[in-house]
Amino acid sequence: MKTLISGGHVIDPANRVNGRLNILIEDAKIVWVGRGEPEADKVIDVGGKIVAPGFIDIHLHEDPIDNGRISPCIFEMMLRQGVTTAVGGNCGINVWDPGEYLDIVDRDGAAVNVGLYAGHEYFRKAAGALDIYAPATEEQKQEMVKEIGKALENGCVGVSFGLRYVPGADKDEFFRAAACCREGRKIIASHVRDDADAIFKAIDEFCEAGVEYGLPVQISHIGSMGGFGQMEDVLRQMDEYKLNGLDIAMDCYPYFAFSTRIGTPTYDPGWLERYHCGYDVLEFCEGKYRGQRATKETFDEVRAEFPECITVCHVMREEDVRTAFGHPGVMLASDGLVNNGQGHPRAAGTFPRFIAEFVRKGTLSLYDAVNKMTAMPANRLGLENKGRLNAGADADITIFDFDRITDRATFAEPALEPEGIEMVMIGGEIAFEKGKIIKNNCGRAVRK
Ligand SMILES: [Zn+2]
Repeated sequence: MKTLISGGHVIDPANRVNGRLNILIEDAKIVWVGRGEPEADKVIDVGGKIVAPGFIDIHLHEDPIDNGRISPCIFEMMLRQGVTTAVGGNCGINVWDPGEYLDIVDRDGAAVNVGLYAGHEYFRKAAGALDIYAPATEEQKQEMVKEIGKALENGCVGVSFGLRYVPGADKDEFFRAAACCREGRKIIASHVRDDADAIFKAIDEFCEAGVEYGLPVQISHIGSMGGFGQMEDVLRQMDEYKLNGLDIAMDCYPYFAFSTRIGTPTYDPGWLERYHCGYDVLEFCEGKYRGQRATKETFDEVRAEFPECITVCHVMREEDVRTAFGHPGVMLASDGLVNNGQGHPRAAGTFPRFIAEFVRKGTLSLYDAVNKMTAMPANRLGLENKGRLNAGADADITIFDFDRITDRATFAEPALEPEGIEMVMIGGEIAFEKGKIIKNNCGRAVRK
């Protein structure tokens, strides 16, 4: 079966393409790209719309497993945004053994292609180290390293850390978990241990392992870590590591507020001083105060009684987020996390919003934005056949209307679908078209 995508404006930064071209697909692959009109069984005329490689989200939090199957929510939200490959297991957290999760994706399919990190905290807990404030024992560390090694063998793209969430993880534990990535030179990614003015020390701590073992380093969601006036210096710190040979990159989500559970160490005593703010920056996303800003009383009550409650914290500086996206070492990622359909709107809006808010308002060009959503994450993950549209590449393709593309999800209604995504193909199959999911199991496991 041959399909020709005709009449589109192709933006494919991996191949330095930005213009009118037609694309011929046969089964799951692109087989030809050019100006001609080759024979095809089916022609899809896209009339000047933008044709891009399917977007790649290098940082989100995957859907849960229920009765042995993926319970689809965020993966479908991603598909509606034009994402064709999503990488979960971030910030040290997995919802299920990641090696087995990939097997489930291969067995059942998923709404998008799925890659996973092996999460340090997940394996720490599995090894019996349940107290996040206490160091793991020697036995627990050995168990952790053994199981992380198995997950990497099963195709995980690297090891993720949420050092912020595990204050008890000492250098020895962190280094031993990171060292698991030496074989195959996989990525270490982290939600680093501290933020705001303390971020520089936290980035140094994390990069030390990358330097020691020669590993690629990914610093996660930097807007919510250094978006309180530190961004220029954070980017300079990355540049200096690069100058000295470290393979380092960063990702960021296109919003000016972060989101986390109220019981996490982010809100341990001292947080008001750290962000120079009052309780009212915090918005509840769940429970009886949903949609309301916090007071000291409601903050204390919910933190004690409902520590899993997702919150949004409106403290990031817009100019810091724009500065981050202006840097060639920073890519887009959603950090999407959905809990019972609730959470931060980034889970449903990140990719269209990046174009609507940052390209239309002049922070960067459409070409650079597509680069940050496709070629950059694909390179980072070492996915040679994704994030690009040349012959031989996977037929993961997103077609959108540049004039109409926009997010609709808000902090009050975080699951609203975006607009302007015309069609999404995964492995040559139409998975999404004109506002509807056509097939929600085209995605396969992405292993490294
Ligand atoms: Zn995180």
